[in-house]
Formats: sequence, structure tokens, C-alpha cells
Amino acid sequence: MESEKKISVCLTLDFDAISLWIGGFGARSLSAISRGEFGRVGAERLIAMLREWGIRSTWFVPGHSAETYPQIVERLVAGGHEIAHHGYLHTHPKSPEDEAAILDRGSEVLTRMTGRRPLGFRSPGAGLSYNMVELLRDRGFVYDSSLMGDDFSPYYLRSGDEAPTDGPYIFGKSIDVVEIPFTWGLDDFPAFEYVTSRAGIQPGLSSPSAVFRKASRGPTDASACSCPKARQACRGAHTSRLSGSPQFKAASQASRINSGICSRRSPNSVA
Ligand SMILES: [Zn+2]
Repeated sequence: MESEKKISVCLTLDFDAISLWIGGFGARSLSAISRGEFGRVGAERLIAMLREWGIRSTWFVPGHSAETYPQIVERLVAGGHEIAHHGYLHTHPKSPEDEAAILDRGSEVLTRMTGRRPLGFRSPGAGLSYNMVELLRDRGFVYDSSLMGDDFSPYYLRSGDEAPTDGPYIFGKSIDVVEIPFTWGLDDFPAFEYVTSRAGIQPGLSSPSAVFRKASRGPTDASACSCPKARQACRGAHTSRLSGSPQFKAASQASRINSGICSRRSPNSVA
């Protein structure tokens, strides 16, 4: 019988809470805002579950959520979870200056409340801009987790990309910020949350068992760990082509110390 193999996964959770509803969706009704309030209830259940299973994880926390729910931040810190940057009010910045101000405000809040400067960043709503790449580098962030340019393997962010519409995409130079990619395919929010907003309707309300079956097999059928090629991919971060670089080691170490990468036998991830 084949021996059990250890698989490393990144388990990440975004504690958007009320910030998503009043910031990202522009909600003003108490009913809509109360859905963000439920984030505290969900976070407390998740913290208890993670403690029971001995799993440490990475939480991307908007500054607004941290200031609204300091008790959740305290419990996360006490539980050894990594707290990473997720903007301030879960909004898309209106200008480069606005973007810098939001990044700095979120960093100030998390540093003050956790005693540690956040090392990782996830753009609210996965809206990373070219300008933000430069800001993350200039402010010494170790990693970002907003892009989908790979599935299991981390890669470097690039500076100087251009996207002309009358010619091929132009790739800039790699910089010392590691991208740990995510996918909407393993994110539970689109699957479960029914949302009507200025942007349209997100149907959500999927069957939990159907989502579990899909997530258990990985982001696509081809990535299920039943074939040698997929198993190769599943070795993931620690065997990546970046594994020898100082910046990757720092990202990996931050994840292990604060926690992000944990060892489970399931390849599931929640972004
Ligand atoms: Zn979010």
C-alpha cells in the first residue's frame, strides 16, 4: 500500500466583515451591513475549529475590521496565526496617492494592534494594480497573494509590465516580492454568498456538498492528485523554482512562523 504523503497547503482567510459591505459594496441598509457583522460569528467559529485541529493559518485583515473587532485580532495573535494586509475599507483606490495612503493606513493599524509589521498583502476584491506592485516593493512587503498567474507554484511579481491593446503583452522585470497565487475556484465567497450590488448579481447559494466535492479535487479536474504530473505540481511551494531565493525563504519562513503554510493531507484552500 502506498505510504501517506505529506502535502503542504496555504490556508488563508479574509476577515472582511463590515468593511466589505460598506466599502466594497457601498451598502447603507442595516440588513446588508449585518451580513458583515456575521463575519465576527464566523471568525470565532473558525478560530475555535483551527485551534481544535492545531492548524495555524493566514488571515488577511482590512484595517477597518481590525479596529472594529480588536478582540478577534487579539485571539488571532494569541493563536499564532499570521495577520496580513487587506487594505483599509475593502475599496479600490481612486488614485495612486489614495492607494499609497490606504496601504500605509492599513499597515499602521495592523502594526499597532499586533505588534508586528504585516509582511503579506492581498488586494481587496483581487484588484491589484501596477502601481501597487511598486508600493509593495518600496515598503518592504515580502509577498502578495492577489494574482492568478499560476496554481501551485509561487513566482516573482514584475515591475514594468505593460498591456498594449495593439500588440503583445510586455513583461517587466522580476522584483523581490513573491506572489503566492490564489484562485476564485477555491474561494468560498462566490460559491455561497448571494449578493446584489451596483456591480450586478452574484447568485451564490451553492450546495455545500457540491462545493466540497469540487474543492476536494482541486481547482480543476486536471489538478486532482491522481496523476503523476498533478502530484508533481502538488509538491508546491517548498520544491518551487524559487525555493533557493532569500525572498522566497523569508516568505516561507513568515508563513511557517506566523503560519500560512500548514501541513494537511487535503489540498483544499480557502482564499
Ligand atoms: Zn476581501
